[in-house]
Amino acid sequence: MNPGIYVHIPYCSSKCHYCDFNSYALGQARTEPYVRALLREIERTAAEVKTESRFETVFFGGGTPTMCSGEQLVRILNALRSSYDLSPEAEITTEANPGTVTLEQLAQLRQGGFNRISFGVQSFDNALLRSIGRIHTDRQAEEAVALAREAGFANINVDLMFGLPGQALPAFGETLDRAFELDVPHLSIYGLIVEEGTAFGRWHEQGKLDLPDDSLEREMYDLVLEQTAEYGYEQYEISNFAKPGFRCAHNQVYWRNEPYLGFGAGAVAYWNGVRRTNCLLPGEYVRRMREVVSLSIEEERLDPRDALGESLMLGLRMMDGVDIDALSQRFGLDVRFLYAAHLRRMTELHLLESDGSRMRLTREGLPLANEVWAGFIGGG
Ligand code: SF4
Repeated sequence: MNPGIYVHIPYCSSKCHYCDFNSYALGQARTEPYVRALLREIERTAAEVKTESRFETVFFGGGTPTMCSGEQLVRILNALRSSYDLSPEAEITTEANPGTVTLEQLAQLRQGGFNRISFGVQSFDNALLRSIGRIHTDRQAEEAVALAREAGFANINVDLMFGLPGQALPAFGETLDRAFELDVPHLSIYGLIVEEGTAFGRWHEQGKLDLPDDSLEREMYDLVLEQTAEYGYEQYEISNFAKPGFRCAHNQVYWRNEPYLGFGAGAVAYWNGVRRTNCLLPGEYVRRMREVVSLSIEEERLDPRDALGESLMLGLRMMDGVDIDALSQRFGLDVRFLYAAHLRRMTELHLLESDGSRMRLTREGLPLANEVWAGFIGGG
């Protein structure tokens, strides 16, 4: 197993209307105390979690990590290098908002060891970008990708969304075309989920959100599958598409339910079978680090049955699927026996298929993945 490291930067310029991530519109001024707290957490955890593991992936997410300066992000990465054995070939990603990057910052990141960058673009339709609360324009997104290339990044991801309020199929098709023109090696393309506690969640309750219906959303997803294949992207996960050799290694750590350390406010770590979540608010995080108090607000040791169910759910997101014999062995439980009825039903409905011990979603199963996963939660 190749463990990963996640670092959370919870700052954003403003809050996007759909966003339920642990992120706050706090501005850049507050980042330095937070960065210092992160450095202390990295050092403190290294003293607590003695590990010989070599880490193959590091991912800075948020929030908007590029609200921090290049120097700050590189300082955090260097602290990780001093405390842990990072593989020389490790994939080191930062998320970035096209509205917050400069060439100088990107060059600093590249020189400091970051080798992958993931831009939250979401759409190339400026009216739509404004209506979902994004701070950048289509041109800024294109410029950001160009700047990243100029700074030496070859491994670039662009995030897009579909199923947005008022979004029509031709408009989404144009956004896809613009993304293909950028010719980046990785695309993550997600359908909108309206989450409680977000601006969209409130507007939806008030009946103010003009969401595409299920069939239009399905057409959008079909367009994604058709066109990504046409442009030479391989679908390797429900929402992720890569040119050969550019799959995101870090996300595969999550989908394979492999261990990872997590640093920062709200960060989750999954280590030695225990899932631990840090306190959410950046101010509280800084205070707890200063007062040398535990950061943890939730700690859960997953029993083998729950861990197996989660591994099936996560693993089936990948087009390679899961090796059910290997999972049975890993958790000491027999997948074929435990989930016999559910597996039979899903196979009869052509939502799941298997080839020896490898099991995966079918093309028909992709948009109905929730139904398949439901059977792995809490029973067969
Ligand atoms: S930039 Fe990303 S993390 Fe920040 S509010 Fe928007 S979606 Fe959320």
